[in-house]
Amino acid sequence: MLSVSNLYKTYESYNQKYEAVKDVSFEIQKGEFVSLIGPSGSGKTTIFNCISGFLKSTSGEIKLEGKDIANKTESEISHFRSNKLGFVFQDFMLIDGLTVLENIFLPQIIAGKDICDIEKQTENLLSKLNILEIENKYPHEISGGQKQRVAVARALSNVPLIILADEPTGNLDSVSGSKVIDAFITAKRDLGTTIFMVTHDAKAASLSDRVIGIRDGQIFKTIKNNGDRKVFLDEIFDLMKA
Ligand code: ADP
Ligand code: MG
Repeated sequence: MLSVSNLYKTYESYNQKYEAVKDVSFEIQKGEFVSLIGPSGSGKTTIFNCISGFLKSTSGEIKLEGKDIANKTESEISHFRSNKLGFVFQDFMLIDGLTVLENIFLPQIIAGKDICDIEKQTENLLSKLNILEIENKYPHEISGGQKQRVAVARALSNVPLIILADEPTGNLDSVSGSKVIDAFITAKRDLGTTIFMVTHDAKAASLSDRVIGIRDGQIFKTIKNNGDRKVFLDEIFDLMKA
């Protein structure tokens, strides 16, 4: 459903060129939860931003459900982003002046959905992600882990083709981080959501179906989760040491 082929990204500033992403290719199937793992500076966010359309690639092809995302105008990209993609970032990006409920309503209102549908969809997501009891709280009244689960609910609210998450556990302790990953797994199981997560957190990655290792802008290994989390975690640690 997502395919990235021969992606290159070179940054140019003050006549300096830096090749941040070099010939990266991978695919993600519908309903799959895939992690891209690598050290800081390895090119993860660059790849993420190319897929999101925030950044133009130097060359290569990115297709979502067979459609090339590169050849779109600015307004097509922004429509595509708000209707087809769901985002989760390290720093939550909730709106401080809105309650949890209102934060999740907002993208649905922007998408022009009927208010009854919005209410139904939101209640459903709040209950699935175990955050129903905080629906009337403001972001400053809830924990980091709760904020991130609200961000996951918001990302799911318009039923995106794919959830794109950049270091979603980066600002959380490991218990809160696990709850956020649980929210992804719930979405995958109950809603068939496809998830692409960028991370340097091996524990978080060990809950996904497949881990793609990146280093110096290049993929060097892909490993699959065969169901034993402990084994998978060890394999991920080995991959990170390699
Ligand atoms: P990661 O998310 O894995 O930490 P990034 O994709 O953010 O890595 O960065 C990859 C490399 O590209 C780094 O060396 C970084 O310094 C460089 N880089 C990122 N953004 C820019 C930019 N706008 N201009 C120049 N170099 C950049
Ligand atoms: Mg990054």
